[in-house]
Amino acid sequence: MNFYSTNDPGHKVSLKEAVIRGLAPDQGLYMPEKIPTLSHSFFEQLPQMSFQEIGYEVISALFSGDLTKNQIMELVDHTLSFDAPLVKVEEGIYALELFHGPTLAFKDFGARFCSKLMSMLMEGEERKIRVLVATSGDTGSAVANGFYKVPGVEVVILYPKGKVSELQEKQFTTLGENIHCLEVEGVFDDCQRMVKEAFLDKELNSNMLLTSANSINIARWIPQCLYYFYAWSKLPVKEKKLAMSVPSGNFGNLGAGILAERMGLPIEVFIASTNLNKVVPEFLEGAPFSAKPSVQTISNSMDVGNPSNFYRLLSLYGNDEDLIKEKVNGFFFDDNETGQAMKKVKSENGYIMDPHGAVGYLGLKKFMDQNPGEYVGIFLETAHPGKFKSVVDKVLGIDLELPERLNKFLSGTKKVEVLENDFEAFRSYLMNSNLHP
Ligand SMILES: *Cc1c(COP(=O)(O)O)cnc(C)c1O
Repeated sequence: MNFYSTNDPGHKVSLKEAVIRGLAPDQGLYMPEKIPTLSHSFFEQLPQMSFQEIGYEVISALFSGDLTKNQIMELVDHTLSFDAPLVKVEEGIYALELFHGPTLAFKDFGARFCSKLMSMLMEGEERKIRVLVATSGDTGSAVANGFYKVPGVEVVILYPKGKVSELQEKQFTTLGENIHCLEVEGVFDDCQRMVKEAFLDKELNSNMLLTSANSINIARWIPQCLYYFYAWSKLPVKEKKLAMSVPSGNFGNLGAGILAERMGLPIEVFIASTNLNKVVPEFLEGAPFSAKPSVQTISNSMDVGNPSNFYRLLSLYGNDEDLIKEKVNGFFFDDNETGQAMKKVKSENGYIMDPHGAVGYLGLKKFMDQNPGEYVGIFLETAHPGKFKSVVDKVLGIDLELPERLNKFLSGTKKVEVLENDFEAFRSYLMNSNLHP
């Protein structure tokens, strides 16, 4: 499979080049040159298949020309080493729980696939690779844990100072070894901008091999389509049309769902659910797309004002703005509405949602209320509520017990450097720091 840049369909590269570059040289996002359609018999067998079996089929359809059968199996087994249960929350509404991995957020899927694939593609290379990551919280922990002690890879994580939860921060800043953390005096979008600038800087790139493990990288982005197939396979109701609500920030997760749909998965509509960082819902309602500074909310992993996967969404629909507006509904909610939904679902259904999942739930409810009786709905529960314990405790008036694997991070010591909100400072950090002792 070759990959083209969303900025120039004529620019095509191999899987290895797309993964190692992360972002195309013209700043476009890489996209698979052809989206394979899965066979009718695959969809018939889907309900009987395991998560891993689904993974082999889907990844083979995309990458069988680039990887051996054994490599694909190893990659899928490593990625799908924990379950993604579909839980009934109320009549006609299901949560797809994506937080059963090592860092308790859906980003574990992409990070595990990405680290494994990069180490496969770098086999036999003498050069070390530096992975640059901007994070609003959960990417940092998933990538840090996915790449921790992977030979030949150094990871540099940039995050906005004071704007990620303590638990999130501890999950990546306490590891050390090949994981280097920079606390930036700015917001998430500043971190993302600095990382993008680094990829475009000629001198940096002639001195070192830089790549990205953000969802702009196809190795992070593509594997996220797998759990959409799995969710459908587990859905007990298949007669009704399916609405899938995705709580979104950078829009990689939603894009991966659309990829699954383009491969033949019968998802009738998507719901792009956001907090007050609402440029995409506004676009879907007819406004021109324009990036805005991000605002802080209780669903902080979605505090993104300039969603980097936006052009990927468009390109999945052949850059047809009418088509995307027909297939994707957008809704946004403020913190008060999010908290109210968490309370209501806890008291009426006994289900505890994290603030991100709650935004997904709200979007789904709104859509279902506008279309009564027609749909069955799934919202993605993107993180374990314990990851946002202080918010969840405060909203619900409880003292949520943390799972063991979260607790163990809390005892570690934070190791970080503070970085000015300035690309030159980042540049000189990369040029001067001895990242590989
Ligand atoms: C990253 C994240 C999101 C947003 O996902 P995108 O792919 O960036 O849209 C939602 N919820 C949680 C918990 C996250 O960590």
